Amino acid sequence: MDKIELERYTRHILLKEIGGSGQQLLKNSCVTVVGAGGLGSVILYYLAAAGIGCIRIVDNDIVSLSNLQRQILFKEEDVGKKKVIAAKKNLLDLNSHLNIETFDEKFSEKSSRKLIKNCDIFIDGTDNFKSKSSICKIAFKENIPLVYGGLSQWEGQICVFDPKSASICFGCIFPNDPGQEFEESCLNFGIIGPTVGVIGSLMAAEVIKFLTSCGKPIMNKILTYDCLQGEFQEFLVEKINSCDICSNLNDVSYLE
Ligand SMILES: [Zn+2]
Repeated sequence: MDKIELERYTRHILLKEIGGSGQQLLKNSCVTVVGAGGLGSVILYYLAAAGIGCIRIVDNDIVSLSNLQRQILFKEEDVGKKKVIAAKKNLLDLNSHLNIETFDEKFSEKSSRKLIKNCDIFIDGTDNFKSKSSICKIAFKENIPLVYGGLSQWEGQICVFDPKSASICFGCIFPNDPGQEFEESCLNFGIIGPTVGVIGSLMAAEVIKFLTSCGKPIMNKILTYDCLQGEFQEFLVEKINSCDICSNLNDVSYLE
């Protein structure tokens, strides 16, 4: 790191758990963030500010006016633009030292090969069961840790899945697909902006902790935040032996 970088990351480097070597680890890391919506906005902003050297963004959506209430990465001038294009510009405005790769596409198991290459950790900023399930499947088959987050109206939740630690996975928490009708009805519910910020910040913190081997991850339990009640709670989750995702790792037919 040069002198400017040392100054920029002083407050990280002063932390004894991170130090100069931890900051160098962040610089050398590559992360893939799937979804540049509410959670993705917060996660990407903090990871860019933290100096993660290579950040991949996967999203095929366009910025709309109603996104601005919670998707803090975007500005009024971005409305109508591709999220990945606007996100890359705004992140480079914040930190020009980064390598930001964009993928203007929907995440799919078939197209995941290029997203996996040299990726240290996956981050799930998507908002639907199918995507979350697919991302988790790839993570476990490719042995890549995954930070999961979910949101609903005033509430949010977070958990870290790590195949290398034989942890629980998304399928152990949600073994049953709620169905498209249920999901579409959820998309029509409101959502409070700051809860997105709380969960997105926790997810970014877990990524930094993982990449620098600091502390202990939120693993094998879900941490939930209820904004209305002003409460955090933890729920232990047990691994399901017949889990579709983490106990069925031999099928590699999904790759191109
Ligand atoms: Zn599982």
